[in-house]
Amino acid sequence: MSKILVIDDRQGNLTTVRATIEDAIPDCHVIDAMSGKEGIELARREQPDVILLDVVMPEMDGYEVCKRLKANDLTRHIHVILISAYQTDSKSKVKGFSAGADAFLIRPIERAELAAHLSSMLRITRTEQLLKEALEQARESDRLKSAFLATMSHELRTPLNAILGFSGLLDKNTPGEEVERFARIIHEKGNILLKLVEDLFEITLIQTGEIRINKQEVNILSILAGLIAIAKRERVRLGKEKIGIRVIPANQMEDLVLYTDPERVKQILVNLIKNALKFTREGSIEFGCRREIWKSQQRISFYVKDTGIGISHENFKFIFNLFRQVDESNTRPCHGAGIGLFISKRLTDLLGGELWVESKEGVGSTFFFSLPGSFADHQRMVS
Ligand code: ADP
Repeated sequence: MSKILVIDDRQGNLTTVRATIEDAIPDCHVIDAMSGKEGIELARREQPDVILLDVVMPEMDGYEVCKRLKANDLTRHIHVILISAYQTDSKSKVKGFSAGADAFLIRPIERAELAAHLSSMLRITRTEQLLKEALEQARESDRLKSAFLATMSHELRTPLNAILGFSGLLDKNTPGEEVERFARIIHEKGNILLKLVEDLFEITLIQTGEIRINKQEVNILSILAGLIAIAKRERVRLGKEKIGIRVIPANQMEDLVLYTDPERVKQILVNLIKNALKFTREGSIEFGCRREIWKSQQRISFYVKDTGIGISHENFKFIFNLFRQVDESNTRPCHGAGIGLFISKRLTDLLGGELWVESKEGVGSTFFFSLPGSFADHQRMVS
């Protein structure tokens, strides 16, 4: 819906102009102000598409209002049409355009002419918005390309260097226990590389819409039990044995019929758990689920909570984007390619659920992952 702000010190003018606009432009919301000061404030707050601005006003005239609107980052993009009944000479028009106005109309204005001007300004505003979006998309693609190259060269090289380095150290004189240690490292780094390649393949499937979801009745308790074993293995792999792991399943879980893809649910939760362990130096992680009613629908909400480094509020929206990490430096202490949350979010969408985070820097994070479910009231049991 288009929004138009009319600034005029005369109530009669406001009423006539409002009636004309509402008559001529369907789906439009008109707001008004009776002084320049009030108009500037309203423009900042309401972000109209076009402003119709009277030239002759007490205290602050239309030229000054226009200048101030165009000098402010929050309002300079808004199109301004100046209207005057008295200052109609070309000098006044030049003064208006120099102040940043986009058009100058002389009163009395024909209804059709005002409507035509407004429609044209609204068309330009829409086109500008589309161009801005296209520019942002182009910038995002460019960023993705650079981030992809930087991340890949870093994340591929690190395990590859270890594999080449340790395999190069092996020969027939290497003591048995060293062979065992080196082989373990090579195996682990090989797995990291494999996971990276699998993630990249998964991204391609997601982006081409080829990913398959196999829904079936799911036993939540067995998924949680499987996750405990994975969390413990990951804790050892990261050498963080001191971090506690707690699992809190919901009560009466056996009443819950969840029809979803268990492998995908597991994939999402494993990713959240691994991140929780990765970004936590001390304390504990906890995961579990609870049954909820949300917007009159039954759903199950899983959560993964940690006492780790936390995430600042302004980074909430970025971390679910591809190749986005809070710390994007090459010297970041935690390895990662910024892929896991992107895949998890897309999979959650495909499962009809939601994924979000609550976090405080230095205190910890909780990731929530909810899925629609139906509580069977003992009629159906999932065993
Ligand atoms: P990766 O962990 O491989 O970098 P993800 O897509 O899984 O990629 O996560 C993206 C970013 O989100 C991480 O790099 C990190 O900055 C932030 N993040 C994810 N989970 C957590 C967490 N539990 N605690 C703090 N930061 C997190």
